[in-house]
Amino acid sequence: MSLLEVEGLSKSYPSADGSQSIFSNLDLTLSRGEVLMLLGPSGSGKSSLLSLLAGLEAPDEGSISILGTQITALDEPARTAFRRQHIGVIYQFFNLIPTLTALENVLLPLSLNGRLSESDRAEQQFVLLGMGDKRDCFPEQLSGGEQQRVAICRALVHRPDLLLADEPTGSLDNDTADKVLELMLQQVRQQQQTLVMVTHSEHLTAHADRVFKLHRGVLEQVDR
Ligand code: ADP
Ligand code: MG
Repeated sequence: MSLLEVEGLSKSYPSADGSQSIFSNLDLTLSRGEVLMLLGPSGSGKSSLLSLLAGLEAPDEGSISILGTQITALDEPARTAFRRQHIGVIYQFFNLIPTLTALENVLLPLSLNGRLSESDRAEQQFVLLGMGDKRDCFPEQLSGGEQQRVAICRALVHRPDLLLADEPTGSLDNDTADKVLELMLQQVRQQQQTLVMVTHSEHLTAHADRVFKLHRGVLEQVDR
C-alpha cells in the first residue's frame, strides 16, 4: 500500500477575472519512507498543494489517500482528527499559537494525542534545535528563525507518518539551516517517515529520493 496516493487533483482560486487554475489533473504516489523535495517558482502553487495534502483545503476535483484513507472523502472534523494523528505540518508562516509559550506550542501535538508521556524526548529535541533557553518565551518574543524552529519541532515531536514542510529552513541562516535539516532528515530516515518538503535551495535536493518541480500547473519529476 502506498503511503500517499494523489489522483486527478485540480485546484483553482477565485480571481479578479473569474478563476485562476493553480493545477489540474495532478497525480502523485509516494511510498513509506520516501523523501520528496518540491521546487517551483513563487506563486506556482507549492503551498496550495501542501494545504491539500494536509487536508486543510479541499480540491475542486480528484482524490488524496493517505495510509489507505481517502481524506478527500472525510468531513472536516474527521480530516482534522486524521491530520492530528498522522500528519505533521511545518507551515511557511509558522502558524504558532500566540497564547502558548514556545515549549507549550511544541508539546501541543503530544497533548492532543494523549501522549504527554513523551514530553521528555520532545524537550530534548527542542534543546537540540538550540531553543533550550527560549522555552518560556511567547512567539512574539522570538525572532523569525526561532519561531521557525518551534514550528519544526512541533511538527516532529509526535513522529507523524507524513511530514509536510513548506520552506522549513527559509528563515534560518545557512549554518542553522544545515543543522536543523540534518536533525529533521535523521528522524525521518530513522522512523521511516515520508517527507514532502518545499525548498528553493537546489543543493538541498541532494538529500531527496525524488525531486519534483511545479511550474505552470504541471508537476514534473526532475531527473538527476
Ligand atoms: P507558492 O507556495 O508556490 O509560492 P501558493 O500556493 O502560495 O504558491 O499560491 C499559488 C497561487 O494561488 C498564487 O497566485 C496565489 O495568489 C493563489 N492563492 C493561494 N491561496 C489563495 C487563496 N486562499 N485565495 C486566492 N488565491 C490564492
Ligand atoms: Mg509558498
